Amino acid sequence: MRTSQKGAIIREVNLSGESSIYEIEFSERRQYAILEESADTDIAIIGGGLTGISAALHLAENGYSAMVLEAGKLGTGGSGRNGGHVCQGWPNDFYQIQRQLSEQDAKVAWDSGMAAVNLVKDRVDRYKIDCELTFGYVEAAYHKRQMESLDEMQREWEARGYDAFIRLEDRTALNAHVDTNAYVGGLFDSKSGHMQPLKYLHGLAAAAAKQGGLIYENTPIVKIKTNHFDGYKHLHTRSGQVVRAKILLLCGNAYLADVGLPSMKSRLAQVTSSVLATKPLSPNVIRHLMPTGAAVADCNAALNYYRIDAKGRMIFGGRASYTNIHFGDVEADLRRRMVKIFPILKNAEKEAVWSGKIGITVNRIPQFGRTPDDIYFVQGFSGHGVALTGQAGVMLAEAVIGDQTGFNVLSSLNHMPFPGGPLRIPALALGMAYYKLRDRLKI
Ligand SMILES: Cc1cc2nc3c(=O)[nH]c(=O)nc-3n(C[C@H](O)[C@H](O)[C@H](O)COP(=O)(O)OP(=O)(O)OC[C@H]3O[C@@H](n4cnc5c(N)ncnc54)[C@H](O)[C@@H]3O)c2cc1C
Repeated sequence: MRTSQKGAIIREVNLSGESSIYEIEFSERRQYAILEESADTDIAIIGGGLTGISAALHLAENGYSAMVLEAGKLGTGGSGRNGGHVCQGWPNDFYQIQRQLSEQDAKVAWDSGMAAVNLVKDRVDRYKIDCELTFGYVEAAYHKRQMESLDEMQREWEARGYDAFIRLEDRTALNAHVDTNAYVGGLFDSKSGHMQPLKYLHGLAAAAAKQGGLIYENTPIVKIKTNHFDGYKHLHTRSGQVVRAKILLLCGNAYLADVGLPSMKSRLAQVTSSVLATKPLSPNVIRHLMPTGAAVADCNAALNYYRIDAKGRMIFGGRASYTNIHFGDVEADLRRRMVKIFPILKNAEKEAVWSGKIGITVNRIPQFGRTPDDIYFVQGFSGHGVALTGQAGVMLAEAVIGDQTGFNVLSSLNHMPFPGGPLRIPALALGMAYYKLRDRLKI
């Protein structure tokens, strides 16, 4: 902790160090071995989050055994510390994708975004994953302009055949799902929802391992080198083992750090988001506050997102720090945001508070790519990855197996680099401040 020039308290903490409620309560989770000997494999995957494990599972289902190398435990990254919102489609207006593609390719991209939640549902059913998957989602508007944006989105999606929206035209309609005076209306989506993400991740991992996938935890890769004679990628672990892989999938997203390719590093910014879980609320309070059990996200740039989980806790996420330093008291700030929406929760007891890193791209669309020496990657789910990572993992796996249709379309999208050097963080923080100001001014 240090004190700023103005005397305000600044907490510099390990932003990913605190355990999420999911990790705390999931003590019976399966542990995977540390890689103790050097090994050869056809396909190596760096990252045991939803993307890497989804790719490993899809490969295993198709008779390919991949080796997953995870620096910490499965879910150490965003996949084990998110808000648990399971959202349809792509993170930004589909227009951001469509404008770069032919109508035919745009359809491929649209369909793959729309396949993401169905994939979650299918896998939960097929592998009987107990992860509290629940449907119902509200996008809430604070003011008229946000309501107009939701209307625009509804028109765009419905023109492409989406049939799950119900317009919540005013506060009364919205109050059927969330009892607050904070919003003027919203959009209900019956095909999005929420779940306990770490249990889901472990369900996928167990299914992959059962079908021949190899998963190693506590095995950080600190260096990658391609041997240009035989094309093998040499992955060096921190404790000195070398994995030689013909094909490599980089699935480290905001946590990948030093081993990422230059074209990935320049196009990804890390943003810290934080979550507060209360102790279970009384059934009466829950029935009153969020009677339908739908999850809620607002339309602000630095949005609040929340839901009631299966144990009756409010899981409330928000804040967005581009400096990745916690200014002030995270818990107090999250509580202030929560109480503004639900004054009745002023004295709700805390069960846990944690943070994690979100990987964002300039246009908020995930960046897919590959190098000539068979390194495939995807990153930048921009806070919208719980469902989409599954589909992205499948697309990486499909590209490796041989069907590159979806992967080629998405990897053809242009991604602007963020400003580099010492200007990077100030520029990002300034950009965010601009959007926060717009939200405050309701423009
Ligand atoms: C606080 C928070 C709230 C969020 N809420 C939501 C939400 O409600 N809904 C939603 O859709 N999305 C949400 N997201 C985003 C979502 O969680 C991510 O998009 C998603 O989990 C990314 O998955 P991933 O597998 O690509 O990356 P991660 O889950 O981050 O996994 C990457 C893994 O790679 C490992 N790794 C990195 N480098 C190496 C290396 N060199 N060697 C070995 N392993 C390595 C890391 O340890 C990590 O486990 C949230 C994110 C955060 C942080």
